[in-house]
Amino acid sequence: MAEIPQPPPALPGFASFEAAMDQALAEARSAQSRGEVPVGALLVSDKGVVLAAAHNAPIGASDPTAHAEILAIRRACAAAGNYRLVGAVLVVTLEPCLMCLGAIVQARLAGVVFGAADPKSGALSSCLDGPALPFLNHRFWTVGGVKAEACGALLSDFFRNRRSAAGEEPPCPLDAGRIDRY
Ligand SMILES: [Zn+2]
Repeated sequence: MAEIPQPPPALPGFASFEAAMDQALAEARSAQSRGEVPVGALLVSDKGVVLAAAHNAPIGASDPTAHAEILAIRRACAAAGNYRLVGAVLVVTLEPCLMCLGAIVQARLAGVVFGAADPKSGALSSCLDGPALPFLNHRFWTVGGVKAEACGALLSDFFRNRRSAAGEEPPCPLDAGRIDRY
């Protein structure tokens, strides 16, 4: 299997990875305002066009697969009329899970830019070195930690507020090294 490709210095159409992450963060805030775990994603084509943007919606959609990454891939594929998004890059505020790793490979994305690492279920580096799995028939690059503090703070605040509303006061999941996303 081919080696894992090196990431480019920036995304086409954006001044920096951070600038793209700002748009994903806006999606994450949208999720938060709907009571969903604040994770946002966008898909950027190799020409720098934003193909789709989405936020987490498993609760509202009654759909455990409605992660921001999956929804963004579905929308971009529907818009493109193609089941693959060759050359496209996923930008997401939280390290993707195992399910989303599968979708990234199926869609043949060129790369993934993520914000906060997910020590509980991150499948790109934290819990699994997903991009290097030997049986995968597609390789993609990753860049992690982009605006990680801002991305992580949204999640920490969300869980803190939810727990205080429930009358509980356990430690923030990020502080405890885990994130209860779902
Ligand atoms: Zn996921």
